[in-house]
Amino acid sequence: MSRIAYVNGAYVPHRDAAVHIEDRGYQFADGVYEVIAVQGGRLVDERPHLDRLDRSLAELRIRPPMSREVLRGVMREVLRRNYIADGSIYIQMTRGVAPRDHAFPAKAATSVVMTAKRARVQPTQMVEDGIRVVTVPDIRWGRCDIKTVSLLPNVLAKQQAKQAGAYEAWLVDRDGHVTEGSSTNAWIVTKDGKLVTRAATQAILNGITRQAVIKLARNNGLKLEERAFSVEDAKTAREAFLTSTTSHVLAVTQIDDTVIGNGKAGSFALKLRAIYLDYAEGPGASS
Ligand code: PMP
Repeated sequence: MSRIAYVNGAYVPHRDAAVHIEDRGYQFADGVYEVIAVQGGRLVDERPHLDRLDRSLAELRIRPPMSREVLRGVMREVLRRNYIADGSIYIQMTRGVAPRDHAFPAKAATSVVMTAKRARVQPTQMVEDGIRVVTVPDIRWGRCDIKTVSLLPNVLAKQQAKQAGAYEAWLVDRDGHVTEGSSTNAWIVTKDGKLVTRAATQAILNGITRQAVIKLARNNGLKLEERAFSVEDAKTAREAFLTSTTSHVLAVTQIDDTVIGNGKAGSFALKLRAIYLDYAEGPGASS
């Protein structure tokens, strides 16, 4: 069965899908994106993802290419044409095609690309044993709150993790504090059972999963602080975990060479994972 992509108004075979060589996304990484999970045919946290997309576009002064209503229709059509019930949809919008010049073009239509793919099931072992992260310097720019396709530092960090046999890289700022992962948000649980994750400033992407887990944790009476934590804090924490649209909540049981807790997913990570998955299938889902 061939995959279908949406490219600037047309549904085309994925293998033939292409944009112009002077698309500013290609030349300048002048664009933004979203990834939204699909579970049981329903979109998870669709509204906050689309709100964040609007915000990213506004911050970069890229014109929204279509109304939200039309966008939601196209998203559903992409999912339908690809027979996706469990997976994710990728939406990318760039400032469009124009002769190469750094300044914004006077006239350019925002380019839109959408693809969908099936979810890979997270191996039980990964969930139960947790995963390993390595720490690397955060060399990104000053507006990590905008979800741009400018991901080169993230790409390099993830490659470093992969080469070290780890699942993710945790990015560390000049003060020795963890900002976030290359494509996930970073969390720890202190010895006295308090959840800690970095505050949503311009230093991190305010993950939609992060926001959902914050709300769910508070609703479940857990103590939570949004503040910076150091690599040392993380290595001596009771637990550590990460969150993202595709990883959900995943325990981190090794940071560099340091094993966290007893090296197995801890009770906080597992409980929050269960609570989050219930939410994603229930109140967080939209048809
Ligand atoms: N931080 C970064 C840098 C990311 O790329 C992502 C995933 N896009 C996240 C955090 C997690 O965000 P979300 O929960 O919205 O997937």
